[in-house]
Amino acid sequence: MSDNELFPVPAEWASRALVDAGKYAAMYAASVNDPEAFWAEHGKRIDWFTPFTKVKNCSFEPGSVSIKWFEDGITNVAYNCVDRHLEKRGDQVAIIWEGDDPSESRKITYRELASEVNKFANVLRNRDVQKGDRVTIYLPMIPEAAYAMLACARLGAVHSIVFAGFSPDSLAGRISDCGSKIVITADEGLRGGRKVPLKANVDAAIARLDGGLDHVVVVRRTGAPVDMEPGRDVWYHEAAEMVTDECPVEHVNAEDPLFILYTSGSTGKPKGVLHTTAGYLVYASMTHQYVFDYHEGDIYWCTADVGWVTGHSYIVYGPLANGATTLMFEGVPNYPSNSRFWEVIDKHKVNIFYTAPTAIRALMQAGEEPVKKTSRASLRLLGSVGEPINPEAWTWYHRVVGESRCPIVDTWWQTETGGILITPLPGAIDLKPGSATKPFFGIVPQLVDAEGKVIEGAAEGNLVIAESWPGQMRTVYGDHERFEQTYFSTYPGKYFTGDGCRRDADGYYWITGRVDDVINVSGHRMGTAEVESALVAHEKVSEAAVVGFPHDIKGQGIYAYVTLMAGVTPTEELRKELVAWVRREIGPIASPDLIQFAPGLPKTRSGKIMRRILRKIAEDQFENLGDTSTLADPGVVEDLVSNRQNKR
Ligand code: ATP
Ligand code: MG
Repeated sequence: MSDNELFPVPAEWASRALVDAGKYAAMYAASVNDPEAFWAEHGKRIDWFTPFTKVKNCSFEPGSVSIKWFEDGITNVAYNCVDRHLEKRGDQVAIIWEGDDPSESRKITYRELASEVNKFANVLRNRDVQKGDRVTIYLPMIPEAAYAMLACARLGAVHSIVFAGFSPDSLAGRISDCGSKIVITADEGLRGGRKVPLKANVDAAIARLDGGLDHVVVVRRTGAPVDMEPGRDVWYHEAAEMVTDECPVEHVNAEDPLFILYTSGSTGKPKGVLHTTAGYLVYASMTHQYVFDYHEGDIYWCTADVGWVTGHSYIVYGPLANGATTLMFEGVPNYPSNSRFWEVIDKHKVNIFYTAPTAIRALMQAGEEPVKKTSRASLRLLGSVGEPINPEAWTWYHRVVGESRCPIVDTWWQTETGGILITPLPGAIDLKPGSATKPFFGIVPQLVDAEGKVIEGAAEGNLVIAESWPGQMRTVYGDHERFEQTYFSTYPGKYFTGDGCRRDADGYYWITGRVDDVINVSGHRMGTAEVESALVAHEKVSEAAVVGFPHDIKGQGIYAYVTLMAGVTPTEELRKELVAWVRREIGPIASPDLIQFAPGLPKTRSGKIMRRILRKIAEDQFENLGDTSTLADPGVVEDLVSNRQNKR
């Protein structure tokens, strides 16, 4: 990971982009020198029924953490994402929907979107959904997911989306945590040609709930027969026939809740992150516009699922608030073939493409051919989110997918942050592979040592954010104490991200992974991301996850789980070769003590490697693996346990 390898802003980008280097510097300075004035101005990017007169009212002080933005303004998120566009762009496509099966796709204009959202809102209203009520959404990636979200927003109800890959248990836990009385689901989901029994999962979840549910609204997706309980369950298409497509818009306060979303659970029990209305929307729409350099007419595609915050902010709310055309994809990257992403890009002439390192690494494994046989001529910008992107994967993404023409925005953020905090702006900032580069407007990142002392200059430490920004989460739903405890008690007065980070001599930020994942080998602190990147840079390695384990001499040793490229045989010789390789790439201090070849790694359902489980296995704590309910494939854990390498 060289600090000096630089990919300069392409000339045509500097001239065409919304923000060039000079403008970035000026706007960033303005945003941190006078946040009140900066956000008073940018708060006007959304429409208000009653304009705000107060801008920022935030305290990070332990015991009285409180975050309020635009607190006396009155607005509505659905109004901003739909109604206000009708006059100018009613016939413009709002959502391009691409089905799991390549023969299925659909275009929905803003006018059609308005009609659908209003109908959906009326269906909910008829089921007694009112302002402040929590509505659980358990839907696949179909347009109805966006309609349902916006319908809740229209009514001032609070949605809690549960990713449709979650089990009945996880769903039940999330329904009862937020006390919702209604669930919106589908008969089945469809992903990679496989059917997911969503309604049956809901029924199984209800059986685990104490008070049951009042209503289940079922969208027909595959047409599979499902059990319907009279009085409780209703088909959406039948209910929608009984209502008009006009529903009054609820006037809500800037600080009224918009949604609850549970974190992906990489580090422990998921937290019910609460986001509110205006600050969230201002921040999501502003970052969407500037980070992706969104211009009128661009076709924008974020491959996330609406079950994750990325889907909330960058498929639905940010793009629609900006009057953009957003693509929503039901399927997976490797169905029907490894060319699917690139074929969809050609089919819909996508200009801006935003995906996750886990998808890039998986596609990289399939080689260049599936990419090269597509055109991708429409592509202008690439994005990455979710985990640190190894320089190896970055370079492949840049060279093969983007034909060395498209900048990559490596966007660092969290469910908690509502929107992107550290990222390049593509017309302003020269790129370094593997670095999220610089803070977005209004973001004040700091590195602190274990005692909380701020470290200046080129250094490595724990990443905190010193000042509030409008998109910040407001509380953990129903547990403000946990909110303060989790985010504001480690370094009092600052928001603690939980991530480790390095700042180089050019002021670029490099996320090194979770702080919990930093290993201390003979007194040297090392981010696991660095060792993993070195391993992945080896031609025979597809994925790697590195954790520490107790080591008699070094304090902590390095335990590496390595997934090999398809067709490569794991041998003792290769093991030695990899140790020597890391030693050469980083230095002797980073040589793995143990390497375990693993056909699969434990991942959350959003594709992140769950290192805490790997750590437990490396520490021999097999009985104590913690919450595994958010694992995508619990089966891999057994394999890992039975093939654990012995300590020397
Ligand atoms: P939990 O908080 O329950 O453990 P989680 O942290 O995985 O789950 P998310 O909010 O989905 O839940 O993920 C945010 C985290 O993802 C960040 O804290 C960071 O560790 C990682 N991350 C996201 N984007 C990037 C990026 N561009 N570079 C490096 N790390 C990233
Ligand atoms: Mg987290």
